[in-house]
Amino acid sequence: MWSTMQDHPLTISSIMRYGTQVFGDAEVGTFIGDGMRRTSYAELGRRAARLANALRRLGVDADQRVATFQWNNTEHLEAYLAVPSMGAVLHTLNIRLAADQVVYIADHAEDDVVIVDGTLVPLLAKMLSRMNTVRHVIVVGDADLAPLEAAGKELHSYEALLAAEPDTFDWPEIDERQAAAMCYTSGTTGNPKGVVYSHRTAYLHSMAACTGNAFALSSADRVLPVVPMFHANAWGLPYAALMAGASLVMPDRFLQAEPLVRLIEDERPTVSGAVPTIWNEVLRHAQETDADLSSLRLVPCGGSAVPESLMRAFDDLGVRIVQAWGMTETSPLASVAHPPPACPDPWRYRATQGRIISGLEVRVVGDGDTVLPSDGTSVGEIEIRGPWITGSYYKDEDPTKFHDGWLRTGDVGTVSPDGYLVLTDRAKDVIKSGGEWISSVELENHLMGHPDVIEAAVIGVPDPKWQERPLASVVLREGATASVGDLRTFLADRVPKWQVPERWSFIASVPKTSVGKFSKRTLRQMYADGALE
Ligand code: ADP
Repeated sequence: MWSTMQDHPLTISSIMRYGTQVFGDAEVGTFIGDGMRRTSYAELGRRAARLANALRRLGVDADQRVATFQWNNTEHLEAYLAVPSMGAVLHTLNIRLAADQVVYIADHAEDDVVIVDGTLVPLLAKMLSRMNTVRHVIVVGDADLAPLEAAGKELHSYEALLAAEPDTFDWPEIDERQAAAMCYTSGTTGNPKGVVYSHRTAYLHSMAACTGNAFALSSADRVLPVVPMFHANAWGLPYAALMAGASLVMPDRFLQAEPLVRLIEDERPTVSGAVPTIWNEVLRHAQETDADLSSLRLVPCGGSAVPESLMRAFDDLGVRIVQAWGMTETSPLASVAHPPPACPDPWRYRATQGRIISGLEVRVVGDGDTVLPSDGTSVGEIEIRGPWITGSYYKDEDPTKFHDGWLRTGDVGTVSPDGYLVLTDRAKDVIKSGGEWISSVELENHLMGHPDVIEAAVIGVPDPKWQERPLASVVLREGATASVGDLRTFLADRVPKWQVPERWSFIASVPKTSVGKFSKRTLRQMYADGALE
């Protein structure tokens, strides 16, 4: 028997319609360094309509890919709304990738239009002529277009295009399974892989992000997405904010600790998401300047393991960092580390990668694809499935990444009976020493808890006796005096002695990937080149 319920599509256009009408007064502010540009959700909706009209006039009339090369700001949000809602596909390009990779990704996705922030014109100019499928480039803000001219594309001014169009658009009916947006993994191994989100997955993911066991967003919130809109759609925060009627505070290109702290003090956001490296820098600056960050009620943090010491230091500032885990392939939100209520030892849970959120399922898989028990101790690769998890990659048949309808995450760890995940490593970063596993994540977390240590990254290096041993690269606080001996003693109190590294290197900063994670690939290369001891 079928239900009697209406079969209404779950679409980004409906998120847009709802947010821009029902919460038309909600504010969108974009930081300009010494103040804000402010607008409302209602106006955002009108400008999205203008953008859709302009794109249609340029020939975007089906599922063409409209790429963005932009910071987190109002215009980027306009593309987030207009492009999927008109039936086209939003493709957020990662501005921090090497030119060759961006070109590969734009070609692979067959991008038709690129919307570029004026400040990024010089960067785009280095690659535009090699983007074979791109026909149109739309430049936001005032910028000298001369560097783009040689590429032979049609160039347009964003504001001039929008000014010529009406502020309503005949939004089409969309099948919820249709492609809405695409995002490429940052390709730490091999070429980047494309994930294509549907309207339905974006809708369900936004609802999940708004629930109490995730971010509990409401119209009382002011959301500051520091995580770039090209990094797994800013973890879904923009669409979730529209759905919840929460105001948005957009940091634009001011992503260093000093302006971010100023922005938080002035604009008093209640929720903000970013990777741990950003919060590490914000913490140091806030401590030095005695800044007041206490407007933040919840800071989802993930992308890499969140050191407990970082969360504790923010607790002291009245800011609750909550660890979350996910991937581009999982939209990305998959688990959030809220401890159970009235729990006598909340850190036991807060230090985990979090509790799987409703709608998703995870399991642990061992050698030979055997499913292991979710008992909190059996270690294996984490597999995941659910309505906002990708089932394949775009134009890339890679069956090794999928297993019986589950996504192999490449993350190694445990799942407890009550749904908490603990990751010990990424499969490609695990260290196997004398037949035993050493968790680089655990060593790093302990080291970053040492008062003299700002950053620590551990990689496995070849060893004649043990096959592999850990090498710790450490960044010390300015003026700190901790020696290798001190750090070894510190670790020996916290992990089995045989896991304590013999090889140490003090470096000025840990190299980062395009999305701000520790780049172990670079560290391994540095070791191979003799740049680490
Ligand atoms: P990329 O794969 O290109 O680095 P993603 O942002 O999709 O880009 O990365 C997803 C990966 O980030 C996960 O598979 C996991 O290894 C890591 N990750 C995300 N959140 C956490 C977390 N809280 N703790 C540890 N690792 C995390």
